[in-house]
Amino acid sequence: MRKLNTKWMHPRDQIIMIIDKIYKGGLTTTSGGNISIIDDDGDVWVTPSAIDKGTLRPTDIVCVKKDGTIEGRHKPSSEYPFHIAIYKCRPEIKAVIHAHPPALVSFSIVRQIPNTNVIPQAKHVCGPIGYAPYALPGSNELGDVIADEFAKGVNAVIMENHGTVVGGSDLSDAFQRFETMEFCARTLINGSTIGKPNYLSDEQIDAFENQIPRLLPEMEKVEHPSDERAIREQIQRIVLRACDQGMMISSYGTVSVRWKGDDFLITPTNVARWDIQLKDIVQIKDGKREPGKLPSRSTWLHQEIYKRFPHINSIILTQTPYLMAYSVTGEKIDVRTIPESWIFLQDIPNVPFGSHFAGEETILSTLGENTPAVIINNDSVLVTGDKLLGTFDKLEVAEFSAKSLTMGASLGKLVPINQEQIEDLRKKFLS
Ligand SMILES: [Zn+2]
Repeated sequence: MRKLNTKWMHPRDQIIMIIDKIYKGGLTTTSGGNISIIDDDGDVWVTPSAIDKGTLRPTDIVCVKKDGTIEGRHKPSSEYPFHIAIYKCRPEIKAVIHAHPPALVSFSIVRQIPNTNVIPQAKHVCGPIGYAPYALPGSNELGDVIADEFAKGVNAVIMENHGTVVGGSDLSDAFQRFETMEFCARTLINGSTIGKPNYLSDEQIDAFENQIPRLLPEMEKVEHPSDERAIREQIQRIVLRACDQGMMISSYGTVSVRWKGDDFLITPTNVARWDIQLKDIVQIKDGKREPGKLPSRSTWLHQEIYKRFPHINSIILTQTPYLMAYSVTGEKIDVRTIPESWIFLQDIPNVPFGSHFAGEETILSTLGENTPAVIINNDSVLVTGDKLLGTFDKLEVAEFSAKSLTMGASLGKLVPINQEQIEDLRKKFLS
C-alpha cells in the first residue's frame, strides 16, 4: 500500500494522491480547487488550469520556476498567484490547498468563521482561522487579501463568497487541516439542524491535548505470529474503509481488536488515519506496548473494556458527520426509527466530554449487553462488538439513523416504533 511520503515522493505525485482524495471525498468539483507544493529550490508545483480533477496525472502538474518561467504542458491554475503570495509571506509553509468544499462555502456565504472549539482536536489541527474579503478570482488583489491574513500567522483562511485556503508544513499537514476544518463546518451545520451546538472551553481542549497516552511500559521482546498479523490487516482494512466511507477523518479515530486474553492491537496516535500502515499498529501484550510506538490516547479505555467485557472483541472510536450532530448538541439519538437500527443498537446514551480519558469510569459503567455504543459529547462515538466487521456495520447503522433523523428534522417530528412493536422485535431477534 502506497503511503504519502512527503520526504521522498516527487511533489507532482504527492499532489495527484491528495487531489484524488479531495475529489473522491466530495470536497471539490471537477473544475474547482487547486493544490501546490514549493520545493527546496523554490520552484512551485501546481495543478493545471481547467483539467479534469477526476483523471489528473503526474505529467499534468505544472512547475512555476523560482524566476517565474512556467514548465509543463498546461497552463497553471489561474489562482496560482495567491499560492505564490502565501509562500512569499510565510516561508515555513510548503504546501497550499484551495477549494470550495460545501460546508465551508456555507460559512463563507453567510460570512462566518466556524468555531473549531466544537471538537477537541480541531482547534489544534486548524489553528486560528483568518477571513479574507471578496476579491476577483485570479487577481493580484485576491493574492493580497489572502497574504494579509497569512501574514498574521494563521494557516487557514475563509475566503468570502468563495471557499477556503489552507497551508501546511507539508501536503499531508495541509490536507489534515483542510479536511478537519470542513468536518467541523459540517458538524456545526448538522448540529444546528437538530439543536444547538455546544462548545468546549480552551481548558477542556488543553486537557485533551495534554492527555499523553498513559505510557504503558515497553515490552522487551515482540513477536508477530500469524494471528497477530491477521489482526493488523483487519484493522488497516477497516480504518481505510472507514476513511473512504466518510466514517473517519485523518485527525481522529481509534480501532482496536482483541488478540488473546486481554491482549489486543490498537491504532497509533499521530498517524493520518487514511495513510495507516500495518507496521504503525501497536501490539499491547500483558499490559505492555510494542517498543518505540505510541498507541492511541484512548488505550486505557480499550484495555479496561477488554478486561471487563469478555463479549467485546473489537472497538471503534470515531467521528462521523451525523452522529457528531448528536455529540456536539448533547441531543439524545432515538434509534427506534426502523427495525434494523433498534435491533443493532437498542440504546445509544450520551456521556459527558472527557469520559474516555484514562481513569474515567462513566463509559465502563454505561456499556453493556444492550448498550453497545455511546456518544461522547463534543468528542466522538464509541461502538463495541464481537467481530470488527460487525462493529463497523453497527457504526454504519448508527450513522445512517443519525443521517435520517437529521434530514427528517425539517420534514416533521420523529414518530418512533412503539413499545409493543419493540417488544415484538425483542422476541423475534434478540431472545
Ligand atoms: Zn476558487
